Amino acid sequence: MTTLTAPNHIDLSIIVPVFNEEAVLPIFHSKIISILQPLNLNYEIVYVNDGSHDHTEVVILGLKQRHPEIAYAKFSRNFGKEAAMTAGFKLCRGDAAIMIDVDLQDPPELIPAMIQAWRDGADIVNMKRSERFGEPMWKKATASMFYHLLGKISDIEIPHNVGDFRLFSRRTIEALNQLSERGRFMKGLYAWLGFPQATIEYERDPRAAGNTKWPFFKLVGLAWQGITAFSTAPLQMATWLGLSSAGGAFVYASYFLIKSVVYPDIVQGFPTLIVVILFLGGLQLFCIGILGEYIARIYTEVKQRPVYLIEAFHPAQH
Ligand code: UDP
Ligand code: MG
Repeated sequence: MTTLTAPNHIDLSIIVPVFNEEAVLPIFHSKIISILQPLNLNYEIVYVNDGSHDHTEVVILGLKQRHPEIAYAKFSRNFGKEAAMTAGFKLCRGDAAIMIDVDLQDPPELIPAMIQAWRDGADIVNMKRSERFGEPMWKKATASMFYHLLGKISDIEIPHNVGDFRLFSRRTIEALNQLSERGRFMKGLYAWLGFPQATIEYERDPRAAGNTKWPFFKLVGLAWQGITAFSTAPLQMATWLGLSSAGGAFVYASYFLIKSVVYPDIVQGFPTLIVVILFLGGLQLFCIGILGEYIARIYTEVKQRPVYLIEAFHPAQH
């Protein structure tokens, strides 16, 4: 472990995105302090308040009076966890940063092991969950399906069961800060970076207090964001769907041609016609919809709006 160098030098930043977390914040803070203090590091804890509506801010500012190593950024509104993490990377000053959830589902006890892996040469230390206690079956199943699908249809390999709980070296933080895209699917960006990575396995605990901020539809949105940001497979799917339905229609037409030659007086086929029209119409709308999804993302990118807006920032005082 390094001993303290220059007085303002920060060895380690802990980045914590928070959204309506008044219940768990004090528990989290005393826990993380108890882990960090014995390490003999100069550290800061960067809380990014992602537009909370509860007393999160009062709690953090109260803590900051007693703990000057807290840096506090407040968003002008809720921009989402990916934006909060992006801001954390921009604002942190440490030689390394650890991204951690405030709900204690990411055990702070593992921080010394993460620092060790970093000292041993890893630029990113991935924390892999071997168990997901307290999470419903459907969440585990859909998460695993999603990672599998994304691995298949994109160039990047996103490690399974690795969330945002990771350590990043300064050079990977600088690299992340250069990525200016608006559609920020962080797990994909981490995988895209490359650099030497290490993986530590752990068991994930249930939330210590408060409720999950990720209802099902928000998770689906994040998954779709991940797919469209890292893969153009859905666009190519339109080509294949079009080709195969055209091929099917050709075979079907040949069949009717032969049939009408064999039984010339039978006037039939109205239902078939409707089915084919509906099928093709649906297929076309579906493909246009996928095109639209990508165009919408291009639209968001070209507008060049910032990923988040900071209303107030109080740096750590050492
Ligand atoms: N979070 C955030 N902005 C949001 C949603 C969540 O900053 O819009 C934070 C939240 O406060 C927590 C972390 O992201 O620190 C993970 O959220 P949560 O525990 O609700 O997600 P889950 O563990 O259920 O996936
Ligand atoms: Mg959680």
